[in-house]
Amino acid sequence: MANNDLMDKIVSLCKRRGFIFQSSEIYGGLANSWDYGPLGAELKRNVKDAWWKAVVHNREDVVGLDSGIIMHPKIWDASGHTQNFNDVLVDCRKCKGRFRVDHIKGKCPNCGSHDFTEGRAFNLMFKTQLGPVDDGSNTAYLRPETAQGIFVNFINVVDATHRKLPFGIAQIGKSFRNEVTAGNFTFRMREFEQMEIEYFTDPEKADECFANWIKERFQWYVDLGMKKENLRLRPHGADELAHYAKGCQDVEYLFPFGWSEIEGIAHRGDFDLKQHTQFSGQDLQFHDQVNNRRFFPYVIEPSGGVDRGLLAFLVDAYHEEQVKEDTRVVLKLSRALAPIKVAFLPLLKKNGDIVALAKKLKKDLQNHFMCVYDDSAAIGKLYRRQDEVGTLYCVTVDVQSLEDHQVTVRDRDTMQQERISLDSLKDYLLKKIL
Ligand SMILES: [Zn+2]
Repeated sequence: MANNDLMDKIVSLCKRRGFIFQSSEIYGGLANSWDYGPLGAELKRNVKDAWWKAVVHNREDVVGLDSGIIMHPKIWDASGHTQNFNDVLVDCRKCKGRFRVDHIKGKCPNCGSHDFTEGRAFNLMFKTQLGPVDDGSNTAYLRPETAQGIFVNFINVVDATHRKLPFGIAQIGKSFRNEVTAGNFTFRMREFEQMEIEYFTDPEKADECFANWIKERFQWYVDLGMKKENLRLRPHGADELAHYAKGCQDVEYLFPFGWSEIEGIAHRGDFDLKQHTQFSGQDLQFHDQVNNRRFFPYVIEPSGGVDRGLLAFLVDAYHEEQVKEDTRVVLKLSRALAPIKVAFLPLLKKNGDIVALAKKLKKDLQNHFMCVYDDSAAIGKLYRRQDEVGTLYCVTVDVQSLEDHQVTVRDRDTMQQERISLDSLKDYLLKKIL
């Protein structure tokens, strides 16, 4: 399959089945903005839940946080965003197109002209105002990253949880960047969601923590079913690193549009806590009571994009298989990520007893995981529809089920069908799925 074809097929599947819609579509759409539909919302929750489980619940050394989107504007002075978070833009004098100077190599991609205005810095933060007076004195920003909410709560979390180093604070949330260039589908959006950890450590242990987090974060994608050959680590070159950074590695995925970053793991030194100490006047050093010393911990920052990760999982799960004369589209999402775990399907929707039994079986399991009941087509078609959204199992109730108290359970990947008694159905599915 050509790469463009694959991307087109995924975009079309996303719209047709309700994973991802163009934002504001009835008004002609909005650039770099997308909405998650019913199945996309489920998938996104599953990605975030899997992350939270892996980095917070299943560890002893990381706690969660949920800080605000709008914070004190001085935070962005301290972090450097007000000063440095810029793209340099130029206008084409001929066609009036506006471009990032680092994207065009001196030639207008619209009209081919070489006649541009001088470059101007354009800050990527979205501005808003606090309170009713709009005179420029109340400017605030929508956060361009979730990380700063963690740094400014560092001492609060230490005091509230009695943490010793090393420990981390994890946060999932929306961030906003006023991107000028169009992204590939949901890969680059103005409003996007991040999953970030700031991991605080004794400076002496920082290199070891950095290496461990790189390994762990790479493995997370593999554990959730992503093919290893489609993943790689890319260390940043010296020219890509921020002046304070001691290292950075990206986890990249091989999208149809090429290798692209889905997560970055940065070794940030003590830059952030020092900056906030300087700008706020509050001492954000860690107090090591055992050895009675105060110091700025070093920070390792694994920062993943929810939307980018989700897109990579979708691309990786997309399969077309030849089944007799038919092409079967199947999303081979892992158990944890599949939006629907089980679909309950009546073979005859006009038979009230069959329908009632299928609905009852769904009700028995819906509290454990996402189930659906569907009688909107013939069984062959229903199977295909569930395959292309990644549903793990289909349970079919037929006339015989009313007599022998058994149902047919069909596995998404093998298409094998098994008769399972009603008594053992729940245990059978719980065991397979959880
Ligand atoms: Zn032009």
